[in-house]
Amino acid sequence: MIIQLDSDITPAEQQQLADKLASIKFKPTNVKTQFANYLIGVGKEEFDIRSIGNLPGIRDIHRVSDAYKLVSRKWKVNDTVLQIGDDIQIGTGHFALMAGPCSIESEEQIAATIQHLKKNRVKIMRGGVYKPRSSPYSFRGLGIDGLKLWHSMAKEAGIAIITEVMMVEQIEAMADYIDIFQVGARNSQNFNLLDALGEVDKPVLLKRGISGTLDELLQSAEYIFSHGNEKIMLCERGIRTFEKAYRNTMDINAIAMLKEKSHLPVIADPSHGIGVRKFVDKIALASIMAGADGVIFEVHATPEKAFSDGQQTLNFQEADLLISRMRKAFRLREEY
Ligand code: PEP
Ligand code: MN
Repeated sequence: MIIQLDSDITPAEQQQLADKLASIKFKPTNVKTQFANYLIGVGKEEFDIRSIGNLPGIRDIHRVSDAYKLVSRKWKVNDTVLQIGDDIQIGTGHFALMAGPCSIESEEQIAATIQHLKKNRVKIMRGGVYKPRSSPYSFRGLGIDGLKLWHSMAKEAGIAIITEVMMVEQIEAMADYIDIFQVGARNSQNFNLLDALGEVDKPVLLKRGISGTLDELLQSAEYIFSHGNEKIMLCERGIRTFEKAYRNTMDINAIAMLKEKSHLPVIADPSHGIGVRKFVDKIALASIMAGADGVIFEVHATPEKAFSDGQQTLNFQEADLLISRMRKAFRLREEY
């Protein structure tokens, strides 16, 4: 169960609530986020919800049978809309586009990408400065110095930054230079990292694990929320299946299903989702039709020369076309 507490609940009222929960053998967890105070109760006994709801100091109470609670739509029926800076909203009715290279490589590359994004009115640039690579000999990113350079150029252009954080220790140093933290597929169940991201007041885009179930993804999101940060987006980026014809299997089903199970915005990553440049546009459009609130994809001036993921990266012309098609697809979806 989720109990929303009044902001001015008194210690005596809290004690009364704690006693009540103890009497029905529910384990309480206090959650304080940037927006509200909650008490999560986990237990099995039957109880009359009014016996808690009528106590003083309580705003509302909801029964949530899912293993995840705060990210469930069972208590929060309306979609969450994230506000990023002054002029970006992500969530229902607002189509979010995030584009950029797999890896941040150089000043010239950042400048060319920013110019491309500005031309297309894309407000969020992606790119990795800490790269999780399958091989330790591959390019692993420019690190914090690359991020600082990117930040100074993006800020000047009025572009927001999303980039991957791989370790708890990186969070503090990165926080001033980013707008959205990305948690990569390989870290989707790094619970210490998720806990720590719950303690910062920055949006987090949480990717689904390479073999992660939807339940696991939602439980990972619950870690972030229950540690205090409500600003979360879920990201479908393809999963590992028996099929070898493409890099991953984009689970379009997941997009529709996540929108039903959770109030959080759902973002599609068709670049990693299929991993084949030629098909990224089709998978992006299919994701929008399935209900995605936004799309994150890889673009580079010369994908053939990209330091990572060139095989799934669009060039600027391809991205120009895809962006206009995605906006049309979004309008079409909103109409029906
Ligand atoms: C990326 O966004 O470049 C990336 C490494 O993604 P994922 O974690 O989904 O593999
Ligand atoms: Mn990539």
